[in-house]
Amino acid sequence: MSLNVDKIRDQFPVLHQEVNGRPLVYFDNAATTQKPQSVIDAISGYYKLDNSNIHRGAHTLADRATRYFEDTRAAVKEFINAREDSEIIFTKGTTESINLVASTYGRKFLTKGDEVLISAMEHHSNIVPWQMLCEEKEAVLKIIPVNDQGEIIYDEFEKLLSEKTKILSVIHVSNALGTINPVREMIQAAKKWGAKVFLDGAQSTSHLTIDVQELDCDFLAFSAHKLYGPTGLGILYGKREVLESMPPYQGGGEMIKEVSFEKTTYNDIPFKFEAGTPNIADVIAFKTALDFIREIGKSNIKNHEDELLRYASSSWSEIKGFIPVGIAKDKISVISFNIREMHPFDVGVMLDATGIAVRTGHHCTQPLMQRFGLEGTVRASFSVYNTKSEIDQMTEAVSKIAKIKNK
Ligand code: PMP
Repeated sequence: MSLNVDKIRDQFPVLHQEVNGRPLVYFDNAATTQKPQSVIDAISGYYKLDNSNIHRGAHTLADRATRYFEDTRAAVKEFINAREDSEIIFTKGTTESINLVASTYGRKFLTKGDEVLISAMEHHSNIVPWQMLCEEKEAVLKIIPVNDQGEIIYDEFEKLLSEKTKILSVIHVSNALGTINPVREMIQAAKKWGAKVFLDGAQSTSHLTIDVQELDCDFLAFSAHKLYGPTGLGILYGKREVLESMPPYQGGGEMIKEVSFEKTTYNDIPFKFEAGTPNIADVIAFKTALDFIREIGKSNIKNHEDELLRYASSSWSEIKGFIPVGIAKDKISVISFNIREMHPFDVGVMLDATGIAVRTGHHCTQPLMQRFGLEGTVRASFSVYNTKSEIDQMTEAVSKIAKIKNK
């Protein structure tokens, strides 16, 4: 089915504006997606009608807010096909979800000489928390290398696995290159050695259908703001038995069963990991974002984005001086590139002058950029509301910019 993109675009107020005198072309979707009117309305609707603290009130508003909040948990469970609602924990974002696991599961179960395995294409948020943990525990951080196409070198990955591997934490889809990693096989391989597997799903959940039971990962993290939802809200999925084995992350209200000065007992999952008043409005609004995705259909979104990827890849490869970075066989709709003899930031600023929003720099993947001997790239990332005519505009703009140094 081809999508009615005009109808979809009508739902996104932010897209209908001029930037620097030109219609906005928003190609920075890997950083954050725009929000449909339904999500914006859900946030203000909550404050207008339902605002109340959850889980502990005897009154109608508290009951309603609690129900809506828990409805989102159930919708997230469906979205990733978790076994039960209690396996879904609300956090601030992917970053906090990773930190939560590193500082609870990691602190409890890692000892000297154990190994944590990550890849060379991780986002900083899937490097630094493990690095901090390894330093504290005298454990070892091992890195799976990446080839020139921007793909994990699978043989090298297998060689790095051993009985010392306690955690494999890997990016499902690269934010910098768009590479889709073979995580199903990687999870199975790591499980043979008894390792727990953490998937960074910040980029995959918006493009691919995710089934955590089929994948058999122990953890999955993602951020609502990359899924047409609000900022400041993340998800941590964890298998029940693994979450139950972990100590709490933060102490405070809600995460307890009983408190005395002598001893505190902790609440059941997921509340054990949700201390304090959560981000109620944004959690409630996130269900609307998931409804938006469900109504269009994940596979329809993917087909549309794949078509944009093919179209842009073939148009831009014709441009003299255009150097793609990351040309994996299996990719989502992200194109990272450089223009010969030009700094990526300058390219980004020149594109902005024509109303086109892209991201430039290291994309929070400095080790990956070092692997490619680059300071950074220009990154265009497409979403469900983007069009071929927007790509044509960028083709024209990039061609002009490239000519400055590539006659
Ligand atoms: N991992 C990946 C792959 C990402 O793309 C991002 C966001 N750029 C993050 C982690 C961090 O997500 P957040 O900033 O929402 O916590």
